Amino acid sequence: MKVFISADIEGVTSVTHWDETELTKAESTIHREQMTAEVVAACEGALEAGASEIWVKDAHDSARNLIPSKLPHEARLIRGWAPNPLMMMQELDESFQAAALIGYHSRAGSNTSPLAHTMTGAWARITLNGREMSEFALNTYTAAMFKVPVVFVSGDKGLCEEAAGLNPAIATIAVKEGVGNSTVSIHPELAAARIRAGMLQALKGDPSKCLVKLPAHFSVEIQYKDHTKAYQYSFYPGAKLKDPVTIHFEHADYYEVLRFLFFAA
Ligand SMILES: [Zn+2]
Repeated sequence: MKVFISADIEGVTSVTHWDETELTKAESTIHREQMTAEVVAACEGALEAGASEIWVKDAHDSARNLIPSKLPHEARLIRGWAPNPLMMMQELDESFQAAALIGYHSRAGSNTSPLAHTMTGAWARITLNGREMSEFALNTYTAAMFKVPVVFVSGDKGLCEEAAGLNPAIATIAVKEGVGNSTVSIHPELAAARIRAGMLQALKGDPSKCLVKLPAHFSVEIQYKDHTKAYQYSFYPGAKLKDPVTIHFEHADYYEVLRFLFFAA
């Protein structure tokens, strides 16, 4: 069994402030260690469930956060950004049997994490077919494009509730809860233990139940915080300015949606 893991940091237990997520800031060190511990826990759960190969995409900011030597030998680590339209799911393809998203977080336009955002701080919110989108939802659709089910998600409570709303079969572990500009977190070791057990259980179950159906048509709206960005990106082929801060894009092919998002971020 080949398993793909995409790892972010804003949904890792205890992480509360942007300074804790930036490689160049000294205070990020302990949080990068915990991000690594949570990914290692997911890998261990996958290996116990029978995974023979695990590809890990470091998917936060510089994409150079995870500590390579801590990962199990069966893991391959994807560092940096290619960059290409698969973004946080780079190197995923049809050869994988399951995917997991670790350290993920609440979406732009929500109030369930001090670090709530989707893809970039430039977007106030993004909707797809009228549904508010998180990185979890966008990347779960990316996986669905390759017929790969996202079986397990860990992160903040708001994210876990959203995952249950998209497909209740997806297993979730909430390691913290956002309250205004603060967080309430479980102990780092407990977070790792629950992630390991959750990943094992998810892969031992029926991953096919977790596969989400891709809509036949995609209508995307991005609202920017800065009207000049909306103006600029409205020149992407097929995009239209809907109002001074919002652009609209439609397509039947999800890869074309990803290509649009890749250039509009
Ligand atoms: Zn991130």
